[in-house]
Amino acid sequence: MRPFTFARPVDTTEAVRTVAADPDAVFLAGGTNLVDHLKLGVARPGLVVDVRTLTSREVTEAADGGLRIGAAVTNSELAADRRIREHYPVLAQALLSGASGQLRNMATSGGNPLQRTRCVYFQDVTVPCNKRQPGSGCAAVGGYTRYHAVLGIPATPDASSAETCIATHPSDMAVALAALDARVQVQGPDGIREIPFADLHRLPDGDPSRDTTLAHGELITAFDLPPLPSSARSAYRKVRDRASYAFALVSVAAVLQVADGQVTDVRLVLGGVAHKPWRAARAEEELRGRPATGTSFRTAAEAELAGAYPQPGLDGGNGFKIPLAIRTIMATLRELTPEA
Ligand code: SF4
Repeated sequence: MRPFTFARPVDTTEAVRTVAADPDAVFLAGGTNLVDHLKLGVARPGLVVDVRTLTSREVTEAADGGLRIGAAVTNSELAADRRIREHYPVLAQALLSGASGQLRNMATSGGNPLQRTRCVYFQDVTVPCNKRQPGSGCAAVGGYTRYHAVLGIPATPDASSAETCIATHPSDMAVALAALDARVQVQGPDGIREIPFADLHRLPDGDPSRDTTLAHGELITAFDLPPLPSSARSAYRKVRDRASYAFALVSVAAVLQVADGQVTDVRLVLGGVAHKPWRAARAEEELRGRPATGTSFRTAAEAELAGAYPQPGLDGGNGFKIPLAIRTIMATLRELTPEA
């Protein structure tokens, strides 16, 4: 492991100024997998800046009826918050499915969505990986692809291209926040800005090394959850290889509104299938105004997955994710419409 300097600034302004001034500096928060990466040699910063205690550790009620979640609120605290459980069950369920109690006690709201992919080739410094070493290629193409993407990628990714990455984003919390249309409060060297959560993470788009749209030195300080209509129901469903904690093969976060048997509004986001939480916009469009029935749910799910590209692999590939995602979308929507 490369030796590094450790800093504990007194406030977020000093933390942001310190990281922004040093291209070799990184923030340390709970829930990122930075410490794993330091040990593996995947991350080799010269300066680690601890921000775990600098942001708010409170969930507060906002003037618009929504909630503001401080970045230092732990995943355990957030999942147990009565207001989250009652009004945003999709978020509480995602948090509880994400990791063991011990990890949830350490993980913070600001850190969790910034954890990096668990692609095994990203974590192995002996093989090519465009995310870890830009321009080196992608060892996952044609390798073990069970946990890799089927959406937001080319039909036949080129292992030798500097633009290729078929990794998936690992955070369950991020999938739920995307479905809730959360807003991200960010403090940077040039001041404070707000980002729609859907714009926080990015597809590889020519530079797989960048997971998010945050600039170097920008720090997440809070998330805002807009209020949901009283008729909205929400749920998170995660399919994984074992009942104990594991990363999603496929997950679905859904927020659904139904009136007189018709879908009046819906938000659907998929996890485990793309480089970022995948907003299922085609499925949403297909569902709005349609009867809330199993037939509509299937048609919408199939429309979304029509854009998927299964990847072959040494482990049999990940084509199974396409029917699995269709069934998981259907099951989640059925759970929210028991009368359908
Ligand atoms: Fe690296 Fe992405 Fe390829 Fe994995 S899929 S080896 S993270 S470039």
